[in-house]
Amino acid sequence: PQASVDVVVVGSGGAGFSAAVSAHDKGAKVIIVEKEPVIGGNAKLAAGGMNAAWTDQQKAKGIEDSSDLMAKDTMKGGRDLNDPALVKVLTTQSKSSVDWLTALGADLKDVGRMGGASVNRSHRPTGGAGVGAHVVQVLYDNAMERKVDLRLNTRGVEILKDKTGKVRGILVKGKYTGYYWIQSDAVVLATGGFGKNNDRVAKLDPKLKGFIATNHPGATGDGLDVAANAGAKLIDLQYIQAHPTLSVKGGVMVTEAVRGNGAILVNREGKRFVNEITTRDKAAAAILKQTGGTAFLIFDDSVRKSLSKINKYIGLGVAPTNPSLEKLGNSLNINGSQLVATIARYNKLVASGKDTDFERPNLPRALNEGNYYAIEVTPGVHHTMGGVNIDSKAEILNAKGMVIPGLFGAGEVTGGVHGANRLGGNAISDIVTFGRLAGANAAAYSKQ
Ligand code: ADP
Repeated sequence: PQASVDVVVVGSGGAGFSAAVSAHDKGAKVIIVEKEPVIGGNAKLAAGGMNAAWTDQQKAKGIEDSSDLMAKDTMKGGRDLNDPALVKVLTTQSKSSVDWLTALGADLKDVGRMGGASVNRSHRPTGGAGVGAHVVQVLYDNAMERKVDLRLNTRGVEILKDKTGKVRGILVKGKYTGYYWIQSDAVVLATGGFGKNNDRVAKLDPKLKGFIATNHPGATGDGLDVAANAGAKLIDLQYIQAHPTLSVKGGVMVTEAVRGNGAILVNREGKRFVNEITTRDKAAAAILKQTGGTAFLIFDDSVRKSLSKINKYIGLGVAPTNPSLEKLGNSLNINGSQLVATIARYNKLVASGKDTDFERPNLPRALNEGNYYAIEVTPGVHHTMGGVNIDSKAEILNAKGMVIPGLFGAGEVTGGVHGANRLGGNAISDIVTFGRLAGANAAAYSKQ
């Protein structure tokens, strides 16, 4: 072997870094291998927030929540196909994951609303900046402070086991160094999903053939093959989520928090057609049914000011603006006079506190301040819910439901946590909680 450590972590997204930091803090010597030349995976692109219940941040804002309510929302969003034991870990540990990240230096003080949540529980940096980039940066800084050995351009290829089936390390391929093996008693697979691999996606769900994706280039799913070759059982691969709002111009993912903070969706006829903060699967299906398969996110300056992320969309030129709603509509080939009527109706519903048209559960603000904005959106592949089968200790299971000794998994590479549909804000929560768990348990296992 070229190296010998206690724990090898495969993948440098949120799950990988959480695992690496927590394994280190349990006394393990750790190497992270990352196939791409850069860190962060899909995690660094996460824009919405980190769901957590019963947190100090919620309490400071007077929001009442519980891990039970978060579990109920998560199961409902996942069409009850989630593994309840994993949902229990996700939800009961969510507060402690927020506290852990905060102690490592993260700012998760802003709390907003995401689709499918009964209350505001999406934790994000003050002002609503992108949560994923922030969390990855904090974890990276902590890993570097701890002198964790991070090897970029290094692909995990094959898990090595001894005659009894115990993990003994991993064969890797460095872009510049070629193949070599790293000896270790435990390996944490944190290789993410396969949303960027449209061949794989379309084979599992033909409706998604040719869809653009929000994912980073490395989200190809080769980690699933590594796991399967090591005997791991793969579950729920057919559940692939389309994010409802990618900008038609430029393919930029527009975070759900824009709707959570008050934007509405209208069609080309200028009419609302759905509860804007329903779950992602329902919102995506509703948009695809509209004329041309697209819709428009409409908001005003009060929504813009509530979420700093919106300035990025404006900077990228995907959010045309006009002080006149009617002119804005007409310039985009939306029925302008109907759009004016729709917003007037919506503002009346906001004033009444109840959306009797589409049962939208939160109506944070009327749309009547300053300039209006419109972003044309359509769904794109976003998250793959399926993956390796793990138990509530983040141990990877084989086809017989038995633990593969020394092999752990966390994050988008795993299945079961999100059932058939992931709620916005549950990805960062998932990768941090299960990453920590996988890292800590891998460290403990390696010391046995
Ligand atoms: P999660 O959100 O679950 O942490 P991410 O997509 O953020 O997942 O991160 C997964 C990381 O794993 C990505 O940076 C990706 O390039 C990397 N990766 C995927 N497959 C391999 C592999 N076979 N070897 C090393 N790194 C991999």
